[in-house]
Amino acid sequence: MTILSDLKMYSRFIWGLRGFLKHTLTLEEAKTIIKKRLEERETNFLRLVRRGIFGYPKSPYLPLMKLAQCEMGDVENMVRAKGLEGTLHALREAGVYVTFEEFKGREPIVRSGKLFPVKDHDFDNPYLSAYYYAKTGGTTGAGTRVMVDLDHIADNAPYLMLAYDGYKVLDAPLALWRGILPDTSGVWHILLGCRLGNVPKKWFTPITNQDIKPALKNRLATYYIITLGRLFGVPIPSPEPVGLGQAAIIAQWASQMSKAHGACLIRVGVSTALRICIAAQEQGLDLTGVTLIGGGEPPTPAKLKGIARSGVRWIPHYTITEAGIVGLGCSQPVDGNDLHFLKDALALIQYPRHVPGTEITVDAFHFTTLLPTSPKLFLNVESDDYGVIENRSCGCPLESYGFTEHLRHIRSFRKLTGEGVTLIGSEMIHILEEILPSHFGGSPLDYQLMEEEDDHGFTKLSLIISPKINIKDETEVIEMFLNALRRSSTSADLARALWSQAGTLRVKRMEPIWTARGKLNPLYLARPSGH
Ligand SMILES: [Zn+2]
Repeated sequence: MTILSDLKMYSRFIWGLRGFLKHTLTLEEAKTIIKKRLEERETNFLRLVRRGIFGYPKSPYLPLMKLAQCEMGDVENMVRAKGLEGTLHALREAGVYVTFEEFKGREPIVRSGKLFPVKDHDFDNPYLSAYYYAKTGGTTGAGTRVMVDLDHIADNAPYLMLAYDGYKVLDAPLALWRGILPDTSGVWHILLGCRLGNVPKKWFTPITNQDIKPALKNRLATYYIITLGRLFGVPIPSPEPVGLGQAAIIAQWASQMSKAHGACLIRVGVSTALRICIAAQEQGLDLTGVTLIGGGEPPTPAKLKGIARSGVRWIPHYTITEAGIVGLGCSQPVDGNDLHFLKDALALIQYPRHVPGTEITVDAFHFTTLLPTSPKLFLNVESDDYGVIENRSCGCPLESYGFTEHLRHIRSFRKLTGEGVTLIGSEMIHILEEILPSHFGGSPLDYQLMEEEDDHGFTKLSLIISPKINIKDETEVIEMFLNALRRSSTSADLARALWSQAGTLRVKRMEPIWTARGKLNPLYLARPSGH
């Protein structure tokens, strides 16, 4: 990225921020927007395919379309004949899909014996929102995206407003316990709250500048957003460091707020929600009236039990960073992870796929983005999740707005999850199969990472090392592992920061666990990942 495009991007962001903060969404506007989007799903899909794929010569989807012998006119005809989901199924059959590893640029796309190398940024939405609506395709549409895109937040606001209204927390005092940049979730939810007319009162952050070393541009971006927001009259809170071991601070705040106002809302991750609930119980705090909303990792039965014990109301969210929010908790749920699929913004089909390294086949979720503000363009992209899509009448407000599909039993089939951080396998595999054996001896067969839950429901990662390997000091292995994560990627470094704080990682001296059919998976899930 050149300095000039950086400057252009930031000046656009600052100008945009002013307009963004001036406009607060109303409930009536939210209803109108959702209704229109649900009616125009097919039009929105075709617009994105026409401009973002067929109108963009570098699109990574073009070679797949070519292999499938599919032109724009064919897509239009298919949508007319089969509808949107029928078209996506037909495209999937014809090889038009992208796996999560391919989407992340970690594996080339291989279809029909042909190989197409891809990088993760190839899937960036090439044009800014306005371009998709312009009558002629000038050059003004292209532009560098910021890591926090205001148009994208604005597009997520309508269904969140309807959901919060349904949960009766639209005006409840709001706080978040989410990270600082480069973890975009904190800033994202701060600005979203502003859009909904409920500026968060507190921004607690589990990671601080000591845990990670944010690049100067990240520190500046946080500073600018807060300072400009205040200049424009919006009292955006500064991030307050609250480590994972200090959840009692948040439990106290929640208890006080709920007592004074009758309700309060905190945006969290699943593990951080559990930490707040355990802290409240330890301190004897009453959390009646407190709602915790969050996601980022599967709310497993053990975690949900721990959260429920404290008396808070738990509402799950299902988010894919590159596409936005995918599912919002039902207020008449049948279990702790019963979500309404946001089909105004996305299309979803299921297709059987084999899980590498196992004998298991799952009905993998394939997502397609419909809104031009999506940071990345998805066309049948696997999220590495599978689960159940069901049409059930629940009678909650979200259903009445047209969100009739429920997502349930969502499981990730290749991700490791701990303390709200997802980390895809391949980065881990490099560490397990190359870095550790080269330093401590042995082969890839002597190392394995096992995910399990402790008695509280917290995710623990055990680094299994064969007793054959001679290791004097186990902390050295942990240190090397964490350092390798630091160097691996921004998301791995964020994971490292939280895992070190939470003591998520430990060494277990035993032989790695093999599957019944004699395979060794570098990553082993101790709890059953089935339904
Ligand atoms: Zn519902």
